[in-house]
Amino acid sequence: MNGELYIVATPIGNLDDVTIRALEILKKVDYIAAEDTRHTLKLLNHFDISKPLISYYKENEKTKSELIIEKLLDGKNIALVSDAGTPGISDPGEEVIKKAIEKNIKIVPIPGACAAINAIICSGFSTKEFEFIGFLSAKRSEKIKKLEELKYDTRTLIIYEAPHKLENTLNCILEVLGDRKICIARELTKIHEEFIRGKISELINNIEYRGECVILIEGAEISKKEQDIEDLSKLSLEEHYNYYKNKNFTKKEIIKQIAKDRKMEKNEVYQYFLNK
Ligand code: SAM
Repeated sequence: MNGELYIVATPIGNLDDVTIRALEILKKVDYIAAEDTRHTLKLLNHFDISKPLISYYKENEKTKSELIIEKLLDGKNIALVSDAGTPGISDPGEEVIKKAIEKNIKIVPIPGACAAINAIICSGFSTKEFEFIGFLSAKRSEKIKKLEELKYDTRTLIIYEAPHKLENTLNCILEVLGDRKICIARELTKIHEEFIRGKISELINNIEYRGECVILIEGAEISKKEQDIEDLSKLSLEEHYNYYKNKNFTKKEIIKQIAKDRKMEKNEVYQYFLNK
């Protein structure tokens, strides 16, 4: 019989956040696949757990996931952990999970800490809909391109960033998204945990760039569609008409669309264009 693959979340700072179930699973499995074995050993030593470890990190994900799958097919139970938080969330995990699914191996999530979730729930921004970005590229051009894609996203944006890149990233966000409200969730669950809230321009020169952090950005006020309609409404009626004509709309469709965009009565638009 195949073994089971447990995806085990570990604390993001405060060791008391480990769950009873996570400890039970870590004690019962045959192997623990860990991103950084030295890091995981500290956690295991703290809880008096001794297990054979398999090093599983981004650069060796492909080869090591094959080894893990072999062991699972051999009936061994394996727990996958990352350095902190939930494996697979800006951390290795995807590769072995895909392979396990192909081989019909049972995958069991063991929930726990995740920086993104704990950051957004205390941000004060909408939690109804959000977009998890993870780390932006370190390359400026790619960072800017990604932010441009997000410019009209009305959902709360969640970005992971390293302390030494935070200032540069905040400058890029200011440049592309404008002076939005942000929340920097720093050192979550640790002694110096803090939530720094305000407009980017107010914070950029007034914060210390240290500690692990998550950047939360309030969603755009208006979506791309609403922005387009606002832009179209600034045109003259003739220009607005030609805009849809160039998109091969029929006269009837154009009148209907203009009335909708400009919140006018269809008949009013129709009368205007009657003889045009
Ligand atoms: N898998 C992890 C999770 O579930 O949140 C994320 C791992 S990712 C490699 C590391 C990034 O997560 C950090 O650069 C930071 O943006 C964020 N992070 C992790 N721990 C944090 C903490 N205690 N406080 C604030 N941000 C944290």
